[in-house]
Amino acid sequence: MDNLGLLLTSYMKYKYLYHFKNRDRFEQWQSRRIKRFLKNIIPKSRFYSSFYKGLNIEDWQQLPTINKQIMMDHFDQLNLYGIKKEEAFKIAFEAEKSRDFSPQLGDVTIGLSSGTSGNRGLFLVNSKERAVWAGAILAKVLPDGLFAQERVAFFLRANSNLYETVHSKRIQFKFYDILYPVEKHVEELNSYQPTILAAPPSILTKLAHKIQQGQLFIHCKKVISVAEVLEPIDERFIQEQFKQTVHQVYQATEGFLATTCKYGTLHLNEDIISIQKEYIDMESGRFMPIITDFTRTSQPIIRYRLNDILTERKDPCPCGSCFTAIHSIEGRTDDIFYLRSKTDDQFIEIFPDFIRREVMMTSNQIKEYQVDQTSPDVIELYLNFGDHCKNESIVAALISNLTRLFTSMNCIVPNMVFMGEISEQSSGKKLRRVQRKFLLE
Ligand SMILES: [Zn+2]
Repeated sequence: MDNLGLLLTSYMKYKYLYHFKNRDRFEQWQSRRIKRFLKNIIPKSRFYSSFYKGLNIEDWQQLPTINKQIMMDHFDQLNLYGIKKEEAFKIAFEAEKSRDFSPQLGDVTIGLSSGTSGNRGLFLVNSKERAVWAGAILAKVLPDGLFAQERVAFFLRANSNLYETVHSKRIQFKFYDILYPVEKHVEELNSYQPTILAAPPSILTKLAHKIQQGQLFIHCKKVISVAEVLEPIDERFIQEQFKQTVHQVYQATEGFLATTCKYGTLHLNEDIISIQKEYIDMESGRFMPIITDFTRTSQPIIRYRLNDILTERKDPCPCGSCFTAIHSIEGRTDDIFYLRSKTDDQFIEIFPDFIRREVMMTSNQIKEYQVDQTSPDVIELYLNFGDHCKNESIVAALISNLTRLFTSMNCIVPNMVFMGEISEQSSGKKLRRVQRKFLLE
């Protein structure tokens, strides 16, 4: 089958065939798929066949896990093409430098995941996988199906081949480079009049400001936040300005993990990827996902621990989907704050969400914020305020709320310093409102 055929087949399957009313039935289907996938793939990967040597695939849920580090250390043996890490990095970096966005090695596209320097991941996808993936994404995201006329505006860091797969007579795609300031795109957007807008929340926020200032006039059917964590503070503002629910696609280079249903609830894409939960906090439902992508073969992702914190949704979603509903994507485990304990020499973990909540509760005059923990004893606060408000008293109130939070958690209260407004974020950099900027020994 050619790639367009694959895309359409995949679209039809995800749109019409893979519908499960009952969680048990679904899990049986998924487990069969995964076992079939593993039995086929493991013998073909030198890494996995030795990693799982002597283990029973029937008990796949108990197989040892990997993470980005392990994957990168064994990159050459793990992928099925025998592609070497150095070679792939070289091609990916060159493409990024020249902004000729087509890092490709034969039929395989090379993706680079963001990460701190030295911690970047490499991801390989062949054209067939790309077609299947595009079909699945379209099935889950398009509000009126593949045969409706749509104009999609897509803001991306790089126009990777991954995204160019999707083209048809009815659906137009326009790519906007987020390395350019948003101002440059406003006029273009006004004339293009996208029906679907997909962008990182930091860009959506800037576009929302343009609507508020009366410069941007677009009326989209669907607004989708991609690539960064959608913070409640941004969600509120984007929603107000675009006058609609903000949808989300939770897509990492590691895989297409979750999408929102029509109610705006994020559901895990368990018909593509199995997501097992490693709980960090059972009571609140916070977990790290361990993913097994049973559709991806060039670089098999099996029992791979993602460095993200997700929170389960407690009540069922009215849409009736049997796929796990997520309350929020909280960010990366790297961004958990560590404060000294009052009673021993241990550190106490503070989830990013706790910080977020205190900021939101303090005042609705805080329009944007960034909270950085720069050492175990110092937290820096950056705040942008609405007009005509008493900034000093809001800063004082926030510090007092955080102090109460830290005290209640038995922490030594760190030194909290107000640093002024957020400096204009360098373009193309991912926005993280709560960040830990040091490594714990
Ligand atoms: Zn739902």
